[in-house]
Amino acid sequence: MAETDAGQKARQARRERIRRIKLLIFIVPLFSITILLGLCIFLGIRLHMVKKELSDMRAAMEAATVMNQTDLPEDTNDAKTQEALYTVSKVEEFTQTEIEDEPLTEEDTDVRKVYLTFDDGPSGNTNRILDILADYDVKATFFVVGKEEEEYQALYNRIVEEGHTLAMHSYSHKYGEIYQSVDSFSADLSKLQEFLYETTGVWCRYCRFPGGSSNTVSRVDMHELIDYLDEQDMSYFDWNISSGDAASSYIGPSDIIRNCTAKLQDYDEAIILMHDASDKNSTVEALPGLIETIQAMDDTKILPITDDTERIHHISNE
Ligand SMILES: [Zn+2]
Repeated sequence: MAETDAGQKARQARRERIRRIKLLIFIVPLFSITILLGLCIFLGIRLHMVKKELSDMRAAMEAATVMNQTDLPEDTNDAKTQEALYTVSKVEEFTQTEIEDEPLTEEDTDVRKVYLTFDDGPSGNTNRILDILADYDVKATFFVVGKEEEEYQALYNRIVEEGHTLAMHSYSHKYGEIYQSVDSFSADLSKLQEFLYETTGVWCRYCRFPGGSSNTVSRVDMHELIDYLDEQDMSYFDWNISSGDAASSYIGPSDIIRNCTAKLQDYDEAIILMHDASDKNSTVEALPGLIETIQAMDDTKILPITDDTERIHHISNE
């Protein structure tokens, strides 16, 4: 009897082991397959997202190149790295807000207003630009950076003395620093505002964000920086026409003139983006032809930015 019991128990135990093994044989592959399937789905989704991001970036880059909406940093130590990072510039519908303090006269409203604006100066080319503007008796706007060296002091003053609008771009023009926080942005801008006041006696109130208000580089929401400018009673100006002179590859004077004038007829007020930098000789070479082309257009005036200028904004808080 005892032996039979023992035999039965052994058989039962064996059956139990076989049952467990069968279960394992079934569960382990099922479990593995489920995990692999999950992993495949996850990777598939990631791949799809990456592909989409890549195509969005490519589209943005193409749009930026075509429309020449880039404002690349110049004259900074790490300009090359920044150039690579900031070529992708978000191209948005422009929102244009008009200021209401002084109503335009009938005569003014019939005239197309063109504003030549130069970013990133002063530079080794500032005097050449100023000479040409003087030759044609044309006033422009300079969105300058902070350069303390002696050789630049006279240039800031010449801009002011010859009746051009002195405006602020950034003291350091280092995207990585100024776009860290509202505090770092305001510290940079205040430094420039005070420096320009000490140098020229002009308390500047007009700004242009490096990369424009639609830049995709800032770690701070640009609307916060726009609010900051509002609080400080400062205005910012983007552009609706780009000369394309910030392109990384060479662009000749005739292409610059074409970029600046091709769509000029579409606007009642056009703010043209150009650069005042020592390596941008074609901008200087394009300037006489550009001014002559604009002056030859009917009812068109070249003016410096003032309170009457339409605020051309890529993004705004309104
Ligand atoms: Zn710039």
